[in-house]
Amino acid sequence: MENKSTHETTLVSENSLPVQSKSNPLKTEPWTPEESAELYGINNWGNGYYRVNPNGNVQITPTGANGPSVDLFELTQDLLDRGIRVPIMIRFTDIIKARVELLYNCFNKAITEFGYKAEYNGVYPVKVNQQRHLVQDIVHFGKDTRLGLECGSKPELLIVLALMNNPNGVIICNGFKDIEYIETAILSQKLGKKTIIVVDRKEELKMIIQVAKKFNTRPKIGFRAKLNTQGAGKWVDSSGARSKFGLTAMEIVEGLELLKTENMMDCLELLHYHIGSQVPSIQSIKSSLKEGARFYTEIYQMGATGLKYIDVGGGLGVDYDGTGHSDSSINYSEQEYANDVVSILQGLCDEKNIPHPNIVTESGRALVAHHSVLIFNVLGVNHLHRSAPPRLVTKKDPGIMQDLQYIYEKVNRDNINECFNDLTQSKQETLQLFTYGVLNLEQRAWCETMYFSIATKMLQIAKTAPDVEDIEATLRQELCDTYYCNFSVFQSVPDSWAVGQLFPVMPIHRLQEEPHHEATLADLTCDSDGKMEKFIDSKTGQYKQTLQIHEVKENESYYLGVFLTGAYQEILGDLHNLFGDTDAVHISMGPAGYTIDHYVPGDTVTEVLSYVQYDRNNLIDNVRQASEEFIQKGSISKQEAKLLIKHYEEGLSGYTYLEDLE
Ligand SMILES: *Cc1c(COP(=O)(O)O)cnc(C)c1O
Repeated sequence: MENKSTHETTLVSENSLPVQSKSNPLKTEPWTPEESAELYGINNWGNGYYRVNPNGNVQITPTGANGPSVDLFELTQDLLDRGIRVPIMIRFTDIIKARVELLYNCFNKAITEFGYKAEYNGVYPVKVNQQRHLVQDIVHFGKDTRLGLECGSKPELLIVLALMNNPNGVIICNGFKDIEYIETAILSQKLGKKTIIVVDRKEELKMIIQVAKKFNTRPKIGFRAKLNTQGAGKWVDSSGARSKFGLTAMEIVEGLELLKTENMMDCLELLHYHIGSQVPSIQSIKSSLKEGARFYTEIYQMGATGLKYIDVGGGLGVDYDGTGHSDSSINYSEQEYANDVVSILQGLCDEKNIPHPNIVTESGRALVAHHSVLIFNVLGVNHLHRSAPPRLVTKKDPGIMQDLQYIYEKVNRDNINECFNDLTQSKQETLQLFTYGVLNLEQRAWCETMYFSIATKMLQIAKTAPDVEDIEATLRQELCDTYYCNFSVFQSVPDSWAVGQLFPVMPIHRLQEEPHHEATLADLTCDSDGKMEKFIDSKTGQYKQTLQIHEVKENESYYLGVFLTGAYQEILGDLHNLFGDTDAVHISMGPAGYTIDHYVPGDTVTEVLSYVQYDRNNLIDNVRQASEEFIQKGSISKQEAKLLIKHYEEGLSGYTYLEDLE
């Protein structure tokens, strides 16, 4: 289903006052939206697209700083009113446009400034997010800037051939290739496509030559070089001698000889390398460029004078945490990246007196990561926090209870270290005594409650005492709550689970209130890995294991957003516990506010079950037969059986996530 509708955006006036925080009446200064912005680091990772508005909601400015903006909380409400369900993936089309333009402008600026004598030809690698609307948008926004596409498999080649209608954009074919892949790619050249087939493994060159002869064409060929320089960060294995793809120096030399023998030297148009995704440091990018550019000049000088592109691959990173110095961050800007690519290539080519090559980048993450946000609601909270101590001990109670009561009463700033050690020991002792049969269940319950009361009191003291940061951190973690959330980590942010990647997470509303709780987020799956417990600590620039978050109010939904999820997450997402694709909407901005361009409904239970070979009618039939049998036996009434079947059928048509929580 696709629907089109418009809605007035409420523009926030600059002088509207933040609503005063009522959550902590003792605090003299009310908590401000600015403090929330600081706490969650949104101005560091938001890239100008995301910020906190004076109403205490997240505000999105998809076209960049001075463009029209939309209140994410109001937008979410509006989508819910239309029957679109949480979890929702919201995509901002204008952010895609802004990113496509940004990258092009950075390269163009560098090319003009340095007097570089060739063009920039960006390509978008579709594997980063193959969603049709998105790829169509990218092709559309890249029309005037020669943006091409890259594919890494046969199915992706088929997408690219159908969607690439920009005559000036190149198509780069990477990945494992068989004859069918190569024939399709070579035949597409006869449709006027600028398809370049990259030799990723040495066997492919022979196949390309064979197919080219069969169709009597001059194919456009690229070589992928195996660089010695490695990236850094989480995806280093994409380069180096043991990487999966690419030709070694010897294989390149042999490949050139083969091309010469076949009289096809002029067909070699491109040299490619790729050192991995999300390269955190500009130093790695520069080293790889120097090595890659040397390959280029050497190959050119060996007679491949048809060379006219250097394809520096992907790797341009995204600043997920805003720190500038971690694996989930980058220590350079897009402009610095472009400047370095252009100036290093220029330097090395001038030195060898070789014409400047056109520059191809395969940046995927940097183009699409920013454009989507996942919104979900909190379903329930497990509070361990207990400030009130249990009943007072009496003389008859076991010694361990007396000890705990004593710690509770005496802990203060001066003895906090000692008390903390005593508390840790008492905790272990409690468990031992229970196991040995000395404590009964009620006594164990008392000890546990007292433990949390002491921990709570101790944390308050630790916050103001000097030199006890480690105690404070341990207690925070001991006392952290679990917020159960309506989403699946495996479906929507798989890299958070698989490679420990950080994604910014924060509430999208109530940001004018101080968040008093520390929590980890648990998802709907029954997998103990289905949780998020890595968050930005904007104070230290490091990570912390708990998120500072608000108390959930009764009868009021609480919404969180996971940001910058536009690259890789959707297609890597899996069906763990059969949670399927979420609902998704595409939003674009216009002078009258925002427009919902597309609504892409998430999977129904029936769809998800069909992936594992269950048939809807079969399932219903089974349940119907069982109810017939027990209606006969008299253990279920006809009305009850009817209701059961009704729920069953509705369940099959429904969303895989929890519904109707409003
Ligand atoms: C995955 C991949 C890319 C995309 O990398 P990003 O870091 O997302 O820009 C580019 N080229 C190749 C060969 C890839 O495998």
